[in-house]
Amino acid sequence: MDHTFLVDLLGENQVSTAESTLTEHATDWGTEDSDGAPPDAVVYPDSTEDISAVLAAATERGIPVTPYAAGTSLEGNPVPAHGGISMNLTRMDAVLDVRPDDFQLDVEPGVMGPEIEAAAGQHGLFFPPLPSSGDISTIGGMIANAASGMQTVKYGEIADWVLELEVVLADGSVITAGSKAVKTSSGYNLRDLFVGSEGTLGVVTRATLELAGRPEQIKGGRALFATLDDAAAAVSDAVRSGVDVAKIELLDAEAATMSNAYTGADLPDQPMVFLEFHADHGIDDEIAFCEAVLADHDPERFEIADEERMDDLWRARKDLAPAIDDYDPDRVFRHPGDVTVPISEYGTLIAYAKSLAGEYDLSIPCFGHAGDGNVHYAILVDPDDPDEAARAKEAHSRIIERAIEVGGTATGEHGIGQGKRGYLVAEHGEEAVEAMRAVKRALDPNDTLNPGKLFPETADGERVKGTLPDAE
Ligand SMILES: Cc1cc2nc3c(=O)[nH]c(=O)nc-3n(C[C@H](O)[C@H](O)[C@H](O)COP(=O)(O)OP(=O)(O)OC[C@H]3O[C@@H](n4cnc5c(N)ncnc54)[C@H](O)[C@@H]3O)c2cc1C
Repeated sequence: MDHTFLVDLLGENQVSTAESTLTEHATDWGTEDSDGAPPDAVVYPDSTEDISAVLAAATERGIPVTPYAAGTSLEGNPVPAHGGISMNLTRMDAVLDVRPDDFQLDVEPGVMGPEIEAAAGQHGLFFPPLPSSGDISTIGGMIANAASGMQTVKYGEIADWVLELEVVLADGSVITAGSKAVKTSSGYNLRDLFVGSEGTLGVVTRATLELAGRPEQIKGGRALFATLDDAAAAVSDAVRSGVDVAKIELLDAEAATMSNAYTGADLPDQPMVFLEFHADHGIDDEIAFCEAVLADHDPERFEIADEERMDDLWRARKDLAPAIDDYDPDRVFRHPGDVTVPISEYGTLIAYAKSLAGEYDLSIPCFGHAGDGNVHYAILVDPDDPDEAARAKEAHSRIIERAIEVGGTATGEHGIGQGKRGYLVAEHGEEAVEAMRAVKRALDPNDTLNPGKLFPETADGERVKGTLPDAE
């Protein structure tokens, strides 16, 4: 690709073809270096106008453009499958406006979780749906991947906290989707179309986020269980009984052991549930209610911790991904699972994942945002053992297939990217996937934006455009 048109549009210091920069943009957190696909050039837009100019020019020339933010995706979402331009959005990192009276914040797409928290926190407000990776990921990436986090069980996912988006479409046109009003019945809901679109429909250049008031009371703790079945059943019961809990996370014994080894935490090597409660009054009544519900599942201990101790526990939970990655020097972290099922299926799904660990002789630590029915797992694989790699792949597929069978989803929060394209039809049906393709064709007929993602490969070729009768 001749990149001189990019230099003409943006200037030299916003375009790079340096080998090291291309390599940096060839992987995300979940993509092995060996599977990486480098772009031909990386651009660093400073403004909506820059993005509009690049997209219009790229579409005219038939060059793919893949948005890239912090690269913490786990399924190859920002990795350019067909080369072309990687559009790095991290320079657009301004907090534009805070309107505490409206509980609203306007940000550019490269703003990260800590800046959002700082801007909101000055006014006694916070942004509830930040993912566990909020400290290292951008709001643009969170919106594009439909992220959610530990507090989703009480506050909902990111889509529930985005009011309005400015988006540049593939032809360079700039649209506003949504409204600054907290509700609207006006027209198609284009805003939610972009949430979770993984950079395939448009580039988010500004977001108006909704904020919440900080609760007056916050308390947390943990419950320890003898068996994983007890812990999982306790979570399901707590959610079904309507306990007002802000976080409810489960760790199996294997995950606890790995966390201890990495963080130096002294978690007992047994299944446990971490909890956090938010309230403006009456928090102790809610905690007592929760304890009573959990008591049906024979917790060995239920303890409420002081704030400092709680911070240590949450750090141990947040650091689980690197802890698992680090645990066995002979094995790497593969298949970061994020299946999510209706809460009544939660216990059986996690038991199924553990049974496959036995059947395939694999280590599959399980954890996750249990209150949402979300089972996170990873499979540890010896990269020099192709048989183990094949067993891991099969176990991963079977967990996803089972989640879909029981009415759940292949991905509760990481997105489809490249890694989960094969499950889209099983989850939604061919007709629904064809309707998604129709949306993609309408907004991006030349398949400029992030081609080769989200949609399953077709007989006609990988790119959505290749399936179009009129594109032949
Ligand atoms: C340790 C760890 C923990 C994690 N925990 C969670 C969790 O709790 N919950 C969760 O939901 N996810 C989690 N993730 C996954 C990931 O961090 C999130 O999906 C995150 O929101 C990605 O943001 P990013 O800035 O890294 O985006 P990237 O990975 O750079 O990009 C993500 C996708 O968004 C597109 N994109 C980026 N910016 C824009 C834009 N401005 N406009 C349009 N498209 C854009 C890209 O093309 C790509 O498809 C975790 C990841 C790690 C490594």
